[in-house]
Amino acid sequence: AKILWNDQIVSEEEVKIGYEDRGYQFGDGIYEVIKIYNGDVFTATEHIDRLYASADKIQLVIPYTKDVLHKMLHELIETNEVQNGHIYLQVTRGISPRQHNFPTTAVDSVLTAYIKETSRPLAQLENGVKACFVEDIRWLRCDIKSLNLLGNVLAKQEAISKDCYEAIQHRGEVITEGSSSNIYGIKDGVLYTHPVSNLILNGITRKVILDCCEEIGLPVVEEAFTKAQALEMDEIIMSSTNAEVMPIVSVDEKPIGNGIRGEWTQKIQQAFELKIPSSIGV
Ligand code: PLP
Repeated sequence: AKILWNDQIVSEEEVKIGYEDRGYQFGDGIYEVIKIYNGDVFTATEHIDRLYASADKIQLVIPYTKDVLHKMLHELIETNEVQNGHIYLQVTRGISPRQHNFPTTAVDSVLTAYIKETSRPLAQLENGVKACFVEDIRWLRCDIKSLNLLGNVLAKQEAISKDCYEAIQHRGEVITEGSSSNIYGIKDGVLYTHPVSNLILNGITRKVILDCCEEIGLPVVEEAFTKAQALEMDEIIMSSTNAEVMPIVSVDEKPIGNGIRGEWTQKIQQAFELKIPSSIGV
C-alpha cells in the first residue's frame, strides 16, 4: 500500500517512525478518520476543518494548507485505487528527546495517512447492535480528537467483553457519547443528543444526522439524557464515520423500544443514504 508520509506518497516499507516521536511516547497528536465511498471522500472539508481545529487546541502547527492536504488525500486515494474504505490520518508533534513540555527548538510535526479498504456494515445497519453502559472516565477535553484514546480503548474493550458492539459512556447518570461514536435517543417523535461541549467529540456524522432530521421533519433537542431515560427511549442510535447511522437495539441486555431498528432510525438512514457520493454513471 502507498502511505502519505508528511507531504510524500511512499511505499509502506519506506515509512520510518521515530521511537522518540511524541505521538508514540505521549499520545501527543491528533487524528481523523474519513470515509471513502465509490472512490470519493465524504465530508472531507468538515474532517479537515476539525483536524486543524484539534491542532489549534493543542498548539500544534500543521505545515500545509487545508487545500494542499485535501489534494494530497485525493492523490492517496487515486494512487491506491480504492473504491470503498476509509482514510486514517494522524499528525504528531514530532520527534524530540523525551520531556513532557513542548520541544524548545523547532521540530517538524509528523503526518501519516493510509487507507483501509472496508465494506459498509450493512447487516448491522439493518438488524441493529447491542450496547452496554460504561462509566466515562476520560479527561475533560473530549472535543479534541486526540491520539490519547486509553479511556475510549478501555470502554470499547469492556463492551466487546460483554458481547456488545459499543459502550454508551456516562458521567454520573448523564449519557455523553460512545467509545468511538455519538449517541442519540428518540422518544415520542423527538431526537435527543448531548449538546456539543468539551465532554463529547463533535461528530461529523452527528452534523449530517441533524441535517437529515431537519429534512425528514424530526425535531431535535440538543440536551443530554440519563441512563434511566435512555432505557425508556423508543429508539437509540449511535453514529460515526464508519458505523454511519447505527441502530442500538438493546442496552445492558434490555431491549430498546421493540428491540428492532425503529422507524425514525430507518428514515434517518434513508436520508443519510442519499448524501453518500455515488460512483460516476450510477
Ligand atoms: N465520539 C468519539 C469519541 C469518536 O471517536 C468518534 C469517531 O470515531 C465520534 C464521536 C464520531 O465522530 P465522526 O462522526 O466524526 O466519525
